[in-house]
Amino acid sequence: MTAKILDGKKMSAEIREAIKEKVVLLKEKGIVPGLAVILVGDNPASKVYVGQKEKGCLEAGFASFLHRLPETTSQEELLALIDKLNADKTVHGILVQLPLPRQIDPDTVLAAIRPEKDVDGFHPVNIGRLVAGLPASEPCTPKGILRLLKSTGIPLAGKEAVVIGRSNIVGKPVALMLLAESATVTICHSKTADLAEHARRADILVAAIGKPRFVTADMVKEGAVVIDVGINRLEEGLVGDVDYEPVAEKASWITPVPGGVGPMTIAMLLENTLEQAEKTGASGR
Ligand code: NDP
Repeated sequence: MTAKILDGKKMSAEIREAIKEKVVLLKEKGIVPGLAVILVGDNPASKVYVGQKEKGCLEAGFASFLHRLPETTSQEELLALIDKLNADKTVHGILVQLPLPRQIDPDTVLAAIRPEKDVDGFHPVNIGRLVAGLPASEPCTPKGILRLLKSTGIPLAGKEAVVIGRSNIVGKPVALMLLAESATVTICHSKTADLAEHARRADILVAAIGKPRFVTADMVKEGAVVIDVGINRLEEGLVGDVDYEPVAEKASWITPVPGGVGPMTIAMLLENTLEQAEKTGASGR
């Protein structure tokens, strides 16, 4: 079997186009979706991500409020800015780019964002709502993964889903979302014994590890849907966590890197911000 490609770039462009059209209608009502992005320090990868988010906002017709703070910013200073943005009616979403410098505790900072404005879906209230199966601001990368999976038309209920990676940003939330779709979910991590054995059972295999070409063809069941979340920067360019060509020979569907999950993350961030703007209107509350 040769896999069909789950084209995140194309799907993301379609979603962003639909968002743009909704923004035009919202603007007629005097509402401009606003996203505040806070970047602390000079991490080169963070700068790239923040630049992509700002570009995405502007292209969609959003207001983009970029706050660049120096590496030496104290936790109190950052919390004071978040307080201000929490109260700002023109700001519908607040995103603090991670990682933060050592002197700042990311958990304290993420918990300071008002849950409704937490368009990244990292606030403990939103995570708790996700666990409880209640409506929540869903984290962007897992939300994008589910959107890609659903586009295959394959019912998720009853499927064996194996997620490799248990981070709070990708692995755990994507596992919860697959569970909410009634898949039977296994989460693997660095201490898992016989990881390949688990992976080979998967109808849906999600790799969120951060190790280039970790998932090899012998770990994949014939006909599986393979989602590669990994972004590994090697000299040869961007490489995923999946050994793409040989795995694509066995899978029914596969996401490429780049052009798979990555572009969906920003589309979902814009969607979360738009939804918050639609809910709260110009009031931002
Ligand atoms: P983390 O480093 O936070 O988590 C990695 C996970 O992989 C951990 O749970 C770890 O297990 C597990 N792991 C590491 N080594 C092994 C191993 N040898 N065997 C089994 N499991 C292993 O990474 P993230 O979840 O934040 O990101 C994962 C990848 O996805 C990265 O490449 C990142 O760049 C990419 N990413 C892509 C996004 C996108 O938009 N496309 C968004 C976010 C991330 P343990 O917990 O035991 O240490």
